[in-house]
Amino acid sequence: MKINRGRLKRHLEELAEIGKIGETGVCRLAHSKEDRQGVDKVKGWMEDAGLTAGIDGFGNLIGRLEGLDQNKPILILGSHIDSQPYGGRFDGSVGALGAIEVIHTMKDNGIVPERSIEVICFSDEEGSRFNKGIFGVRALAGMLEEGELERKDKNGVTRRKALKEFGVDTDLTDSPVYMKGDIAAFLELHIEQGPVLEEKDKPVGIVSGISGPIWLTVTLEGFAGHAGSVPMTMRQDALVGAAEIIRKFNDLVKREGTDTTVGTVGSMQVFPNSRNIIAEKVEFTIDLRDIDLQARTKLERKLYQIIEETTSAYHLNYEMKEDTRSEPRYCADWIKEIMREEDEKLGFNSPTLMSGPFHDALIMSYISDYGMIFVRCEKGISHNPLEFAELDDIEKGVKLLYATALRICQGLDNMNFIPALKDSSAFDSK
Ligand SMILES: [Zn+2]
Repeated sequence: MKINRGRLKRHLEELAEIGKIGETGVCRLAHSKEDRQGVDKVKGWMEDAGLTAGIDGFGNLIGRLEGLDQNKPILILGSHIDSQPYGGRFDGSVGALGAIEVIHTMKDNGIVPERSIEVICFSDEEGSRFNKGIFGVRALAGMLEEGELERKDKNGVTRRKALKEFGVDTDLTDSPVYMKGDIAAFLELHIEQGPVLEEKDKPVGIVSGISGPIWLTVTLEGFAGHAGSVPMTMRQDALVGAAEIIRKFNDLVKREGTDTTVGTVGSMQVFPNSRNIIAEKVEFTIDLRDIDLQARTKLERKLYQIIEETTSAYHLNYEMKEDTRSEPRYCADWIKEIMREEDEKLGFNSPTLMSGPFHDALIMSYISDYGMIFVRCEKGISHNPLEFAELDDIEKGVKLLYATALRICQGLDNMNFIPALKDSSAFDSK
């Protein structure tokens, strides 16, 4: 099985020219002029591949290839082509253009799939411009929130206006577009954005699921005093308390976490933030993630214990605000099974790994079974113009995507060894 490597390379390079910054960076902010140029360019490639393509009212670019049996739940492939303001050439683009390459390869081989296939470039995955992302996919899945179109970018432009300038008329009553049961499977190819594949010296990985973060904001309150006069034994120093919590939290995750647990304190505010005043108030964030919900819950409880004990030892008051709590979303076993079989045929020997960052697939998981393939990227660098993935690795990822897509389109009805399929609600409604 062959994909057209030259064509894939050309598409990646041409898309990277749109919104190019410096030698290797891109800036294609959601709904911007550059985003629209990118969408138009990619729409043309969809049409070359034989897809009927259009842009919906939310800015999603959707191409469809009719299958032989139009009553079957469809297969969706896709990712995003918008970028961070100071982004790289591969984040999202690899999956979007890889999906088009899959369809093009089918066409080159004269294959008409049994079930219809859609390729989607989801709008505003990144969330940088309006401080809230995965917008297009949430619209498709019916997961938009109140006031979504009134969110403003840093220039005061609302999303509603930006979408209008992008060239679409947005009607919220169009959401959701898909219902549970419409979709047999969703597949997303993406660069790893982490260092695991590089460390394992493997070009491609099969994703087990997307881990769920807990985001907390912790505020400690002590008492301010003169750094020169208040004796050490009489202090209520909020910063010393915070430092101890952060170090103990880090130790806890290292010592008792699983291979997939990560814990981070990435932001801190100190009040009054003066060199000769004992810190009265410290606010810091906590990000705790794992694909293993039980493991995460166990560490969460221990974290609360640490906060409790430390604040008591330093005579501090504390408050805790929960900003986000997401559950991990697991890839479907039957899709991973197909991927493993195809991976073996291709001789890649790909490891299984989880995704720390979220992707469009996170939202798709609420309306469809899903699978993800990761491609190795240099040093795990992403959201940075230095982001880099080898064409060899991308090609391998697309091959695995192609083989998996073909299996799901063609032979699925005969695959009665997959128990999940038989009682999957996805197959009842149509
Ligand atoms: Zn991405």
